[in-house]
Amino acid sequence: MSLNDSWMQRDLAVLWHPCTQMKDHEQLPVIPIRRGDGVWLEDFDGKRYLDAVSSWWVNVFGHANQRINQRIKDQLDQLEHVMLAGFSHQPVVELSERLVQITPPGLDRVFYTDNGSTGIEVALKMSFHYWRNSGQPNKQRFVTLTNSYHGETVAAMSVGDVALFTDTYKPLLLDTFKVPSPDCYQRPDGMSWEEHSRNMFAHMEQTLADHHREIAAVIVEPLIQGAGGMRMYHPIYLQLLREACNRYDVHLIHDEIAVGFGRTGTMFACEQAGITPDFLCLSKALTGGYLPMAAVLTTDKLYQAFYDDYSTLRAFLHSHTYTGNPLACAAALATLDIFEQDRVIEANKTLAAHMATATAHLADHPQVAEVRQTGMAVAIEMVADKASKTPYPWQERRGLKVYQHALQRGALLRPLGSVVYFLPPYTITEEQIDFLAEVATEGIDIATRASVSVAVAPGAPANFHDPG
Ligand SMILES: *Cc1c(COP(=O)(O)O)cnc(C)c1O
Repeated sequence: MSLNDSWMQRDLAVLWHPCTQMKDHEQLPVIPIRRGDGVWLEDFDGKRYLDAVSSWWVNVFGHANQRINQRIKDQLDQLEHVMLAGFSHQPVVELSERLVQITPPGLDRVFYTDNGSTGIEVALKMSFHYWRNSGQPNKQRFVTLTNSYHGETVAAMSVGDVALFTDTYKPLLLDTFKVPSPDCYQRPDGMSWEEHSRNMFAHMEQTLADHHREIAAVIVEPLIQGAGGMRMYHPIYLQLLREACNRYDVHLIHDEIAVGFGRTGTMFACEQAGITPDFLCLSKALTGGYLPMAAVLTTDKLYQAFYDDYSTLRAFLHSHTYTGNPLACAAALATLDIFEQDRVIEANKTLAAHMATATAHLADHPQVAEVRQTGMAVAIEMVADKASKTPYPWQERRGLKVYQHALQRGALLRPLGSVVYFLPPYTITEEQIDFLAEVATEGIDIATRASVSVAVAPGAPANFHDPG
C-alpha cells in the first residue's frame, strides 16, 4: 500500500471532514499532504499540487514561507499565549497599531476573534448593541445581498444566502432583509459593470427608505461574492451604499474576510470606493494563511457608545478564548512586513494582467458564459447554454470533473459549482499561471464534453454552489 493510501485509510476511520459528503470518499481520494513549499503542496507519495486556491483563500505568500516561519519561531520562544482580558502583549499592540494605520481613516479600534465567522458575529452584535446603547433599540435587523456568504455560525449564516450552506437551517436563522445582488454576471447584454451596479442599487435604496427605522446595519462582501461563485460588481455600489447608510443612519459592515489583503488589486476593497465602513471584518490572509485569527475594526464613535461606568451595563462582554493569540499576531506582523518590503500590491498588477491574458481564450469556449476578473481573482463560468446563460444542473457536479482532472495534472483547483477560479498565492510565477490556465482549459473541455445523467429534483435551489 502506498503511503498516501495508508494515511487516507487512517484518516477515513476517524475524521469527519468539513464541507464534505463523506460518502464521496468511497470514490474520491483524500490527499494527505506531507509538506508545503511556496505554491506547492506535496503528498506522501511525492506528488506535487500547485495550490491555485490558496488553501481556501488564506495563503498569500506561499507555504512554509521563511520570513513568516522565523517570526513565529521567535515568538514561540517568547510567549505562546496569554488571555487578552486584563492582559496584553507586544505583538497584539503592534498589530493593532498597524491595522489602524493601513486601513481607511476612521477605523481606530480593533477587536479580535479566532475565525472569520465569529468576526462577523462580533460586527453584528456590536451594531445591534450600539443602537441599544444609543437609545434606538428598534434598530435590530440586518440587510444582506442575495448570493452572499458570511460564514457558518448561526448569525453569520442568517446574513448569508448561499442555499447549499443555509437552506437546511432556515428555522434557526434571524429574519433579514434580502436585497438583489449587484452581481454583474446578471447584467443585460452590452451594459457596463458600473451602470448595472448603479441600477441595482435602486433595490437597496428602496429597502433602506422603507425600513431604516428597524435596520441596524447592511452587510456586504465588497466587490466579490466569493462562496456565491466569485460573482463581481463595481465599486460604485459601495460608494452609493456608504452615502445611503449615512443618510438613513444605518451601519455599513464590510466583510473583507476573503477580499482583504490585496485580493481585489488594492490592499482593501473599500479603497476602490474611497469609503470607510463602520465595521471592517478581516481574517483569512491576515496571518498569511498560517493561523486562525480575525480582526474587526470599527470607529471611535462606535467605541464611545460602549464606554461608560461598569454598572450601566453598556460594555461589550463578548470573548473568544484564543482572542489575540500572540503566535497568530506574529504571523500577521510578518505578513504585513512582506506586503510593505516587497511592494506586493504594485507587483501584483503584472501578475493580474498575466492571469487575464492566460485565461482570455476561455471566453470563446462554447460552454463558458464569462471569464471575469477583479485583481488577483479570476473566475470562469461553465454553462449548459452560452447564449441564454443556462446553468448546468448542480447535481451534475461538472466542477468536480475539473477538480479531478487538475489533481491528476498536479494542481489544486476546487471549483464552486460550475465556476472554475484561480485565487493563487501572490508568489506564483507567470509560468505557473500558464500551467494553471492549461490545466483549467483541459479540465473545462473534459467536464463540459461529458454527458451526465442525473435525476434533477424539482424545486432545487438555483444558487446551489456545490464546492465539491
Ligand atoms: C471564509 C469567509 C467567512 C468565514 O470565515 P471562517 O474563518 O471560515 O469562519 C466569512 N465571510 C467571507 C466573505 C468568507 O469568505
